[in-house]
Amino acid sequence: MRPSVLRRKAYNIYKNLPAGLRSTISQVSRVVPLQYIYGHEFRRTMSMIKATEFLSKEALSRIRREKLSFILLHAYRTTKYYHESMTKKGIAEPDIIYDPEEVLRGLDFIDKRTIIDNRDDLVSKSKTIIPHDVSSTGGTSGEPFYFPIDSSRSSFELAFIFDQWRKIGFSTNSRRITFRGNKIADSLWEDDWLTRERKFSSFDLTDEYLRNIWPHLSSYKPEYIYAYPSTALAISTFIERHCMTLPSTVKAFLLGSENIYDGQREYIERVSGAKVYLWYGHSEKLVLAGECEKSEQYHAYPQYGYAEFINEHGQQARPGEFAEIVGTGFINTVMPFIRYRTGDYCTYLGESCPECGRNYPVFKDVRGRWTQENLIGLKGNQICMSAVNFHSGNFVNVYRMQFLQEEKGYATLKIVPKEGFGEKDIHAIEKEFNKKFNGNIVITVQTVEDIPLTQRGKYKYIDQHIQ
Ligand SMILES: [Zn+2]
Repeated sequence: MRPSVLRRKAYNIYKNLPAGLRSTISQVSRVVPLQYIYGHEFRRTMSMIKATEFLSKEALSRIRREKLSFILLHAYRTTKYYHESMTKKGIAEPDIIYDPEEVLRGLDFIDKRTIIDNRDDLVSKSKTIIPHDVSSTGGTSGEPFYFPIDSSRSSFELAFIFDQWRKIGFSTNSRRITFRGNKIADSLWEDDWLTRERKFSSFDLTDEYLRNIWPHLSSYKPEYIYAYPSTALAISTFIERHCMTLPSTVKAFLLGSENIYDGQREYIERVSGAKVYLWYGHSEKLVLAGECEKSEQYHAYPQYGYAEFINEHGQQARPGEFAEIVGTGFINTVMPFIRYRTGDYCTYLGESCPECGRNYPVFKDVRGRWTQENLIGLKGNQICMSAVNFHSGNFVNVYRMQFLQEEKGYATLKIVPKEGFGEKDIHAIEKEFNKKFNGNIVITVQTVEDIPLTQRGKYKYIDQHIQ
């Protein structure tokens, strides 16, 4: 097994250990040099990004075409779905090798529905020899969605994440604190020396909790705060209301996985005194885009995936047009995602950034699946949906779900079950949520026949009746 695969497998086990044992291992890892913890694949990817980021348009296009050609050929050769759909269109291997972009543009878009309906046909015949894990995405589109993905992805992806943060001074040795949906058991925080971060809960952002953790946040002397936009907003509101200050060591908030709306960034920066750095990414790992150091526009890594921007007529968008982000990923070879409609929208700006000179696809104003809807805890605290991401096996038999909240601290989770869903699932889901929310909000599961969409055909994740 490759070291990057072993590393991922070991980390999966580590994440699920009891807190005490995890803490012991974490302490031991303090003495291990970081380059060893992140591994060879991480360093190799990091060097590759640095060596290619300022290449000419032609040189970068060549690299992207090679990666695209690899994934299209792999899909053609090893998945039933793509072999059949390409054959039907008269596409053969030489076409893919000769002009993969032309082949790509001739393929139909797929979406979450396509994947759920054709799961087996989309999985590569090489699955048995590619080490993989099962990942999932909850998002706001209802039906939980599971897919296999290469175990070697982690070191590769981490290099891109760190590279984008590097633009605002982040290094592998930077100290960061994290508020990102971690389960913090039996204490106010958890130190993870494997990832060099102090983790706090993002489920419990009451004034009382923030007041209690503030000394521990300050004493850690963090340089970066890694969080969701809505969490940064809650922290900023606390700072403003109680005349608190962030430690002077903090340089920036690193914010992703949720939309940020007009005025929110300015508010966070004004109140906290720290810069906000944003990026766009998703669990399917097809498009990853961070802001550049010179503008607030997202730059999609062409070395990570093939991003297309599709306007309302189904055509490639022109600069300035509103477009859906469509991705073809280079990471997942167990279940290749080709021309996948992400359900996220943006304003497409072009294929290069005049400010920094990178020939990367550029866009701004992401709007999409992640909405900043909140549940309200017992003490009036807000619990954001990103922190409630449904990455667990308990939702395999769930077709669609929606929270209904009419009273602070209580919510009903309405579930449209699939065949095979029973009392056991109800208990498991209630137990999981109530453990995660730790008394802040009590969840009761109720099965229903249907959860209707909104008038505009959109899925509403929370039916919130508290004003
Ligand atoms: Zn730029």
